Amino acid sequence: MASQFDYDLFVIGGGSGGVRAARVASAHGARVAMAEEHRVGGTCIIRGCVPKKLLVYGAHFAEDIADARRFGWNVPKADFNWEVLRDNVLAEVARIEVVYQGILDNNKVETIHQRATVTGPNEVQLADGTRVTAGKILIAVGAWPYIPDFEGAEHGITSNEVFHLAEVPKRLAIAGGGYIANEFAGIFHHFGTDVTIINRSDRILRHYDAQIRDRLLQISIMAGMKFRFNAPFERVEKVGDGSLRIHLGDGGDPLEADALIYALGRVPKTPGLGLETAGVDLARNGAVLVNADNQTTCPSIYAIGDVTDRVQLTPVAIREGQVFADSIFGDKPGRVDYEDIPSAVFSHPPIGGVGMTESEARNRLGSVRCYTSDFRPMKNVLAGRNERALYKLVVNGETEEVVGIHMIGPDAPEILQAAAIAVKARLKKSQFDAVVALHPTMAEELVLMR
Ligand code: NDP
Repeated sequence: MASQFDYDLFVIGGGSGGVRAARVASAHGARVAMAEEHRVGGTCIIRGCVPKKLLVYGAHFAEDIADARRFGWNVPKADFNWEVLRDNVLAEVARIEVVYQGILDNNKVETIHQRATVTGPNEVQLADGTRVTAGKILIAVGAWPYIPDFEGAEHGITSNEVFHLAEVPKRLAIAGGGYIANEFAGIFHHFGTDVTIINRSDRILRHYDAQIRDRLLQISIMAGMKFRFNAPFERVEKVGDGSLRIHLGDGGDPLEADALIYALGRVPKTPGLGLETAGVDLARNGAVLVNADNQTTCPSIYAIGDVTDRVQLTPVAIREGQVFADSIFGDKPGRVDYEDIPSAVFSHPPIGGVGMTESEARNRLGSVRCYTSDFRPMKNVLAGRNERALYKLVVNGETEEVVGIHMIGPDAPEILQAAAIAVKARLKKSQFDAVVALHPTMAEELVLMR
């Protein structure tokens, strides 16, 4: 029977979640179109995880080159060329974008390179004025950096622009103490920039385990990064030589910087999307409200990913897109399990965490036991690098289950991904103990904590 609609599914937003939902729905036999106003790939591919991780690799060579001398390599003075790294990273992003577009084309998803807005429960309007109808509409437009409002705020940039900088700033101020702030602080510090993190509170990475984030703070300070805590912005002025003078409400002197990056969280990108025309309810911060099946208050409209402000992580958006497409078009109903989602901060050194932090466990469980291993990785010892790693197991005192693993140290996210399986599987501490250590590794500490 011919459908009354132009498409079975119209996806707005070609990021990680939208692309997954579109291609899987199409593979299930749905007629799918996807509108993307900018570049296919969204935040993660174009201006987030992927180019950021490549910059993290690029920055790490500063340590690797210095350490190599202690390992016997005669390394002449090494120079860093930002333009080479920047352009190679941007070229890699462009390559992946083409791969993503190919995936859509191969799966017969019609990509429309225009902005689309919602004009009714089953209708969207494209930027050129065309109106199209669809049985279901999926909102996957993601989120956008929050820009604060104070005098001179327009002098700051966001992570969107960082990947395109003409040169590495000599002095960089970063507003915020979360993921993006700590990742870019590490990157630019290793490029030789004088970095200052400015945060409204006296904490960094509030959702991570307190001991782990304290360790990052300690290592960052030792490395020479600066922090201005409890420092609300008052105003920013541009001075004669083009640099910025940042006035903060912490009682300290104004901060001089060549660039200021806002990393103050990301807000759902719903303004102007027309969702009110279809009766879609939004939260106060603009997030699309959805039920456990990703359905909004308009039954034919669904939403996934950062625009719903549940867990702002790429693999979660991908999973939500997969489950949406399987449930609605593949006759395979399911729901995303939000328990024990591993996460990482690609700081220097990086952090990985899964499950409950110690304080969460103490609030939620009756009895809790924690085990820590505080050690200097072998490579750091020989390199003369006075940086200690810290691993922590949080254990339910009654059931003996390991309910959280938190780590900071070289390769922590790589190790944590495998360890997260044990937490998800509700393995007990005794089962960790039963595993023979793989020596010499850092990861062996996970089975040696007593
Ligand atoms: P985060 O939520 O990580 O951190 C926001 C920071 O800004 C916090 O230090 C917070 O302070 C501060 N802040 C929040 N709102 C305001 C405000 N109105 N005024 C002043 N300060 C404020 O945000 P990011 O921008 O760093 O990252 C956005 C999201 O992107 C992350 O939440 C994460 O989900 C995702 N992301 C994930 C990455 C990864 O997986 N490795 C990497 C980068 C981003 P305080 O906490 O002290 O109140």
